[in-house]
Amino acid sequence: MIPDNPYLLLTPGPLSTSKTVREAMNRDWCTWDEDYKSIVQDIRSSLLALSNGGDEYSTVLMQGSGTFSVEAVLWTCLKPEDKILVLSNGAYGKRMAKIVSLMGIKLELLDLEEHEQASPEKVEELLKQNPDITHIGMVHSETTTGMLNDYAPIAELADKYNKCFILDAMSSFGGVPLDIRSPKIDFLISSANKCIQGVPGFGFIIARREVLQACKGNSKSHSLDLYDQWKAMENDPGKWRFTSPTHTVRAFLQALEELKGEGGITARYKRYVNNHQTLVKGMKNLGIEAFLSEEDQSPIITAFHEPSSPDFSFDKLYHLLKAEGFVIYPGKVSKAATFRIGHIGHVFPEDIKRLIIAIEKIKFW
Ligand SMILES: *Cc1c(COP(=O)(O)O)cnc(C)c1O
Repeated sequence: MIPDNPYLLLTPGPLSTSKTVREAMNRDWCTWDEDYKSIVQDIRSSLLALSNGGDEYSTVLMQGSGTFSVEAVLWTCLKPEDKILVLSNGAYGKRMAKIVSLMGIKLELLDLEEHEQASPEKVEELLKQNPDITHIGMVHSETTTGMLNDYAPIAELADKYNKCFILDAMSSFGGVPLDIRSPKIDFLISSANKCIQGVPGFGFIIARREVLQACKGNSKSHSLDLYDQWKAMENDPGKWRFTSPTHTVRAFLQALEELKGEGGITARYKRYVNNHQTLVKGMKNLGIEAFLSEEDQSPIITAFHEPSSPDFSFDKLYHLLKAEGFVIYPGKVSKAATFRIGHIGHVFPEDIKRLIIAIEKIKFW
């Protein structure tokens, strides 16, 4: 017998999943069989509906972690002569820029501070100065700090100047309401193990059909060719190119049903906001302040200033909390002296209250 989870994950992916999602993995599937392909098709249409995509859009699933899907979009939509403007205020914006530079594609990087959002005026100025920009890429929920970037004015600019707009909505899709058509997003990227609350193994892209159709033959990567992957899934409905993560896919269908059961994205968003507010309030009582101002904050993950006491050590906090049954986000990606606690997944305000009690108990600084 494998023991049940020894601790709750307070990390923004992989995250704590429900027992029923994990149990859904407990059988094998044949990838060529109708039974399995119909699961894939159900998932594709459910994701489309969650984004309000309609006929103009199509969903493609892609093996690997979320970054593989980001990379698949970039390989597939960028041509050698193109130039992309990437807006970055954290590690995931930088990751997108890194992929582009490895591809040898021209890059204009708007490199912002972690507590700063891109100003639409600045972006418009860059678009005017660089008429050769063809694409704009940015992150919705920047998981580095928990910043929820307001992508709407940037997407509107992309539309106005006729640029392809790519949104890494990895850690927000399914947990923060959005409408892919208004303002228009050309490629929206997310993955199985974030707000839909599935287990890791694949990512997905919701793309405007017209734009994806025009990408035929662009990709210099075979396995990350999103166009080819799409055509395979369309021509033999629900069939993946290459081995698909069958158990993960089946668990994801269960996760989608549970999202519906909870009351959809709006209800899930409310729970996440409640988790966040419960956390911020409890931490404040312990003398620990949030890093971002409330209007910039996503309900996904919260960064806190480290206590200034010389006795404080993140490592010690991490290990003591783990012994109490909570795993917080290890490591430090932010430039500031902060630490982060995730609150998405099968996590409820009651869990956050238990966490606060645990921190109070182990407080050593
Ligand atoms: C999780 C995440 C990714 C993808 O990370 P992987 O480790 O490759 O799954 C990309 N962007 C953001 C904003 C994320 O939160």
